[in-house]
Amino acid sequence: MKTPEVRGSVVDHQTRCVHYFSDRDIIAIKFACCGAYYPCYKCHQDNAGHPVRLWERHQFNKKAILCGCCQKELSISSYLNTDNCPNCHAAFNPGCRNHHHLYFNI
Ligand SMILES: [Zn+2]
Ligand SMILES: [Zn+2]
Ligand SMILES: [Zn+2]
Repeated sequence: MKTPEVRGSVVDHQTRCVHYFSDRDIIAIKFACCGAYYPCYKCHQDNAGHPVRLWERHQFNKKAILCGCCQKELSISSYLNTDNCPNCHAAFNPGCRNHHHLYFNI
């Protein structure tokens, strides 16, 4: 399967961006409003030209998280229930939890 395109200010092939580029910043999030992957909400804000629409709870089964390490997509609910990639076991940044409300209606 083709790897989804990640938009925004991406700085490497593991979806790090100019805003978040630690070892563990390896995911991109698909936005409900436009269906496009961005590394973070700031990249969406700078590039999309429209306000963010949050994922609603009944959509949490949708695959909207891209692991930049193995390029596999995971569902929102599995992402919210793990701190590493279920496929390649790369650790995700636990600090992202503080930003979940910017993406998901939780
Ligand atoms: Zn959008
Ligand atoms: Zn960014
Ligand atoms: Zn992975």
